[in-house]
Amino acid sequence: MTQQSIVPLAVPNLDAAEEELVAEAVRSTFVSSVGPFVSDFEAEFAAAVGAQFAVACSSGTAALHVAMRLAGVGAGDVVAVSDFTFIASASAAVYQGAELLLVDADPATWCMDAALLADELQRRSRSGEVLPKVVEPAHILGQPSSMEPLVDLCEEYGITLIEDAAESLGAGWTGGRFAGRQTGTIGRIGCFSFNGNKIMTTGGGGMIVTDDEELARRARHLTTQSRVPAVGYLHDEIGYNYRLSNVAAALGLAQLRKLDDFVAAKRRIAARYAEAFAELPVTLPPTLDETASTYWLYSILVQGADPETERDALAAHLESVGVQARPLWRPLHAQPPLKHAQLLGGSVGDDLFARGLSLPCSTGISDDELDRVITAVTDWYAGR
Ligand SMILES: *Cc1c(COP(=O)(O)O)cnc(C)c1O
Repeated sequence: MTQQSIVPLAVPNLDAAEEELVAEAVRSTFVSSVGPFVSDFEAEFAAAVGAQFAVACSSGTAALHVAMRLAGVGAGDVVAVSDFTFIASASAAVYQGAELLLVDADPATWCMDAALLADELQRRSRSGEVLPKVVEPAHILGQPSSMEPLVDLCEEYGITLIEDAAESLGAGWTGGRFAGRQTGTIGRIGCFSFNGNKIMTTGGGGMIVTDDEELARRARHLTTQSRVPAVGYLHDEIGYNYRLSNVAAALGLAQLRKLDDFVAAKRRIAARYAEAFAELPVTLPPTLDETASTYWLYSILVQGADPETERDALAAHLESVGVQARPLWRPLHAQPPLKHAQLLGGSVGDDLFARGLSLPCSTGISDDELDRVITAVTDWYAGR
C-alpha cells in the first residue's frame, strides 16, 4: 500500500483572500493594535452575530477575563461554570480569585444542566449562602446551551450571565424564545475565540460582544491598559494588554466573510457522518429541534461497557490508517488545579470524557478524506 497522507482533525481554511488582507495590513505598516482592520473586524463581527457592540481581544481567554472584570468578579465571589468544557472557561474566573461552582452537563445538550443549577440556587438562597455573581455556560462543540432556564434563573436571582461562545460562532436558535438569535448574544456578555482550531481563526484572538454601550466602552478601555485618552500616560485602573493586532484582525476579516460557508461545511460534514454512522453502536452529537448546532468539532460517543478502552482502541485504529482523532476534554472537576472546586453532579461529564472521540472535520475537508474517515470507522466496527 502506498503511503497515505494524514487526515487532520481540524486545520484552518485559508486562501488568497486572507493573504491579500494580511499583506494589505503589512503594506500599511499598521501591524499593531492601532489600525483600521481592528475596527472593521469588530463592526462586521457585531453585525454577523447580531450584537450591538464587539470588542476584539488577543484571545478567547482574554475576552473571558475582561468579561469577569466587567461583571465585577473579585476574590471570594462565586462563578458557576460548565464542568464539561475546555479549561479556559474556568481560568478567567480563577484569575479574578473567584471560587468555582462546577455544574455538570445535561446529556441532551452536553452543555450546562440548568436544572442542577436551579436546585443549587434555590438551596443557597434558602440557607442564606452566597449566590454566584456570574453564571457562565459554555456552548459545547457548537451546540447552544438551554438558555431559556438559565436566563430566567439569572433574572430571578440577579446574576450576570456571560456566555462562553468560544466554540459556537454561527450557532443559534430556530425556535422558542430566542428564535433567530445566535449564541453569545443572549447573556449580558458573550465571548468568542479565534484560536487556530476554531471555526474561523485570526491565528489567535477573541471577541467580546454586548448590547450595553458602557460595557463595550469599558471592555475596550481594559484591553488597552486602561489608558485615559489624550492626557499623556494616565491610567485610571490596572488594565491589560489584550487588544487584537491589526494583522490578526485583517486575517479575521477575511475569515469572517466566509463564515457562512464554514458553518455550512460543518453542517454538511455532520450530516455525512450522521448518515454513515446511523447503524453503528455510537451516540451522535446532539441535534435538537429548536437549536442549530455548528458541530464545531464533530464528536461521537462509543457505547461499550468499557468505553475508555473502546475509545482508545478506535482512536488507535484510526491513527494506524492516517486518520487523526482525539478524546474530548477531561471535565474540570478532574483537573488538578480545580479539584477543590464545588461540583454539582459530575457523572455526565465523566461519561462524555470516557466515551467521546472527535473526528476530522476541517471546513476544507475533501469528500475523499471524509470517505476515508467513514471507511476507517465502519471497518473497525465491522471487524469487532
Ligand atoms: C477555545 C476555547 C476558549 C479559549 O479561547 P482561546 O482563544 O484559545 O484563549 C475558551 N472556552 C472554550 C470553551 C474554548 O473552546
